[in-house]
Amino acid sequence: MAADAERIEETLSSGRPRVLVVGAGFGGLACARKLNRKPVEVLLVDERNYHLFTPLLYQVATALLNPSDIAYPLRRVFRGSPNVRVMQARVKSVDFKRKVVQVSPGSELRYDYLVLATGSANSYFGNQRLAEHSIGLKVLEEATRLRNHVLSCLERAEMETDDEVRQSLLTFLVAGGGPTGVEYAGALGELIQLVARRDFHSIAPSDVRIVLVEGRDRLLGMFPERLGRYAERVLRKRGIDVRTNTLVNAADDWSATLSDGSTIPTRTIVWSAGVSPEKPSGTEALAESRSKRIQVDDRLRIEGVRDAYAIGDVAAAKTDGDELPMLSPPAMQEGRYVARAILRDVQRAATPPEPFRYFDKGTMATIGRNAGIALVRGGLQFTGFFGWVTWIVVHVYYLIGFRNRLLALVAWGWNYLRFDRPIRIVLESQTDPLVEGIDDPAPPSQKARSRGGSG
Ligand SMILES: Cc1cc2nc3c(=O)[nH]c(=O)nc-3n(C[C@H](O)[C@H](O)[C@H](O)COP(=O)(O)OP(=O)(O)OC[C@H]3O[C@@H](n4cnc5c(N)ncnc54)[C@H](O)[C@@H]3O)c2cc1C
Repeated sequence: MAADAERIEETLSSGRPRVLVVGAGFGGLACARKLNRKPVEVLLVDERNYHLFTPLLYQVATALLNPSDIAYPLRRVFRGSPNVRVMQARVKSVDFKRKVVQVSPGSELRYDYLVLATGSANSYFGNQRLAEHSIGLKVLEEATRLRNHVLSCLERAEMETDDEVRQSLLTFLVAGGGPTGVEYAGALGELIQLVARRDFHSIAPSDVRIVLVEGRDRLLGMFPERLGRYAERVLRKRGIDVRTNTLVNAADDWSATLSDGSTIPTRTIVWSAGVSPEKPSGTEALAESRSKRIQVDDRLRIEGVRDAYAIGDVAAAKTDGDELPMLSPPAMQEGRYVARAILRDVQRAATPPEPFRYFDKGTMATIGRNAGIALVRGGLQFTGFFGWVTWIVVHVYYLIGFRNRLLALVAWGWNYLRFDRPIRIVLESQTDPLVEGIDDPAPPSQKARSRGGSG
């Protein structure tokens, strides 16, 4: 990694101000794209080499889309760019005084402007047992793990003769009734209905139980009540056991204990009940909001440090005094705003930029086939088929890459007409020891020399 950082320093030595964007999610990518072909050098650092379209993660987890359909290689995005470089690395810490970030011991990247766009991670509210016994739905690895796990539970249940074990294999608990939990529960219901009925001889759809647990008194708290109630009705009609005013308190290998005192025998707890901002070390001293996001001023500058911005889920950006929700549109608008603000600063504009204002176009979610909800700017609300079609159009529009759009449309069309979720394969994943294990970056020739073998 030290060699990577040196190489980056060599290729980016244009003398123009350097913008270091940490995180290539919705916010970071929008920022880097806006700075493309502008008089700055941009280094976009992400621990993954692709941009992930999180709104469709649950469709990978329920065997409808392939992982590659919702991921787009970052190097492809900036293939022809004269000034944006991409680096796959995890930023470990930030030193705001020296204006450097550390990517591995002894390997630092300097910046003139920093844009922190590291997003958020699963939060289990400090309950380690819950973390160990749940599967999150935040990154691609978790979505494929969940797909493998659910399909494996069905495979195992098909053979199982012990009723108790079978019941726990066929019970799926989803924690969190926000958009992710609702969308996943609806899609899982469809997967089970389609797969269990056709592919498994001994599993009837009625043997399978999906429980959706939400701590508040209704689902989809961020939407108007009417839309939340609609989602609840649709899910119940489709056989999902929805429990509001209920929390998951504890879990072990065989069951989950709920706050109403009941115990659900299950081998599957899907966690969508909480996220918290993902902050590299060095940020501990920064002011944070009640939700632990980094405090930024009305121009998205991190309070108390120089030339550093925070955007997206990690930042407590506000409009009209309200902290913006952890959603992709605010992250993207903030990314573009910060890019413009940096360019004005670089070009020494006479006046500072206007304060950031979020333009809310609306929010939407799907509950399953023919059932969606959409809240459009101005308070307009759609449910049912129209809400579902609106959701499809918007998501195809925002997916990156023509191929991905086409593949998603084909997959949805196929599923709609054929009632089929085709990616029902259980894959064992392995890390690559030849890559993962490289702690010593010295190439073989150097190693041989240091052993005295090169003659
Ligand atoms: C399952 C799911 C479904 C969702 N559905 C919707 C939806 O339908 N509509 C909607 O608007 N929003 C949705 N969201 C929320 C949306 O994904 C986030 O609000 C949005 O991604 C925030 O953008 P961001 O740029 O702040 O972070 P992200 O998009 O999460 O990107 C953060 C990036 O930073 C990288 N990173 C993190 N730490 C480091 C580090 N230390 N070093 C290097 N790289 C790092 C990560 O690899 C990642 O690429 C969903 C989220 C999830 C998990």
